Amino acid sequence: MFVRKFARLIVGALVMMLAMVGAQVAAANAAPEVPADDTVAARTLYYDASRAAEFVDVVHRAAEIWNNSVRNVQLQRAQPGRPVNIVVYADNGWPRAQPTSLGNGRIWMGRQAVNQGHDPTRIAAHELGHILGLPDNRTGRCSDLMSGSSAPASCKNAQPSPQERAQVERNFSRGAVAPAMAARYAEDRDYTALANTAHAA
Ligand SMILES: [Zn+2]
Repeated sequence: MFVRKFARLIVGALVMMLAMVGAQVAAANAAPEVPADDTVAARTLYYDASRAAEFVDVVHRAAEIWNNSVRNVQLQRAQPGRPVNIVVYADNGWPRAQPTSLGNGRIWMGRQAVNQGHDPTRIAAHELGHILGLPDNRTGRCSDLMSGSSAPASCKNAQPSPQERAQVERNFSRGAVAPAMAARYAEDRDYTALANTAHAA
């Protein structure tokens, strides 16, 4: 009698152990947990530099600078079958950007500023900054990317300042309210961002 009862207990314990192991295996195979906010994948914007003529490499370099500067948004070269967010052109005018919404718009790499000695990589990074939601900020400081041509033409800095990086991170953080881009850039004349389509290629 005692032996049988003991055997039943053993069997019962084994069944329970197997059930627990089974539950652990099931948990291990379950889908990963939803990542915390700071590990959410960056928003990817696709840019087309194929129409930027002699500035193609400069545009790629400027995109790389932004990719190394911020986490919440990344710029990748346009790929077949993917929507394009940013198209970059080259012309003989003044450099300018035409943001249509946060992360979307057109850029013109204007030769006029380049011919006046302004650094092409700084111009490209500055115009991408507009697409990423940064306004002009005419501080005259070379350390500011968005100071544009208010800094001396000799300024070669194409790196966004810590404040500019932080603003872009905020613009592309989860739940951020997109700025009213068109209104913001209506009167921008400094490596300019345009609100109208007058210069659209
Ligand atoms: Zn500007």
